[in-house]
Amino acid sequence: MTAETIKKQLKIEKIIQETPDTKTIRLKLEKPMDFAPGQFVMLGLDLDIDGEKKLVKRAYSIASSPTKKDYLELTFNIYPKGQLSPHLYALKEGDNLYVEGPFGKFNFKEDNSRRAIFIGAGAGLTPLMSMIRYCADKKLPAKSTLIYSVKKPENIIYYKELLEIEKSKKLDLNITITRPEGTNWKGRTGRIDSNMITELLSPILEQSNFYLCGPPEMVEGTVKILEELCVGKDRINREQW
Ligand SMILES: Cc1cc2nc3c(=O)[nH]c(=O)nc-3n(C[C@H](O)[C@H](O)[C@H](O)COP(=O)(O)OP(=O)(O)OC[C@H]3O[C@@H](n4cnc5c(N)ncnc54)[C@H](O)[C@@H]3O)c2cc1C
Repeated sequence: MTAETIKKQLKIEKIIQETPDTKTIRLKLEKPMDFAPGQFVMLGLDLDIDGEKKLVKRAYSIASSPTKKDYLELTFNIYPKGQLSPHLYALKEGDNLYVEGPFGKFNFKEDNSRRAIFIGAGAGLTPLMSMIRYCADKKLPAKSTLIYSVKKPENIIYYKELLEIEKSKKLDLNITITRPEGTNWKGRTGRIDSNMITELLSPILEQSNFYLCGPPEMVEGTVKILEELCVGKDRINREQW
């Protein structure tokens, strides 16, 4: 079977409730889609806008790995006042969804001479998860590191799978909770900042490629910290929404 780019309706095979406000949709691929870990697709639904039917589209990073040839997974938050995400959230298994893609230059570069360091916040983990799954499936020799920030423990997506991948000793997993008050969280807390990056990454800063995704203030702040620590721009890959 040859790989293809897509511009059509795909069937929803499975829906996973990841957190109280985040779902994953698995779409069935009739043919493999050619994409790099980190790329995104446009998802669309025909919606009634001011009495007119319109195809409303938004970008969603592919969370599954290209090593999985017969499905695509997308993970999204619901924004109750948003135009598309509440409708995506209401979809059921067996429904169809318009998909176009892949797009985007935020791509994982396979480089066995360097470690990969993934830094993400919230739903910004999705393209990084595609990369982490790809590294695990391909059994790439270099160990990778994830620094992942979320508000509360209940907001951690893919938690079980991340712990499984960590057990393989190929992922150094660091989750930080920014609003731990009132939770049982015993792990790391606070925003990703210069101290945290220095503590976790100092010994490996020089031999690593960086992949950052999350809200603009988190991505821009982290790029600044990395540049202050003399990480060259050519080693920093970023996506922000
Ligand atoms: C390359 C790319 C990849 C993306 N990948 C993903 C992904 O994997 N998962 C995912 O959940 N989203 C992702 N997004 C964001 C997604 O495209 C939509 O913007 C999001 O789902 C909101 O769409 P909407 O139509 O519901 O809201 P809109 O109608 O577009 O926005 C309405 C209101 O919703 C709120 N809102 C919208 N987006 C955000 C936000 N990011 N943070 C806080 N408030 C917000 C704001 O109040 C906004 O004014 C990605 C965006 C880009 C550009």
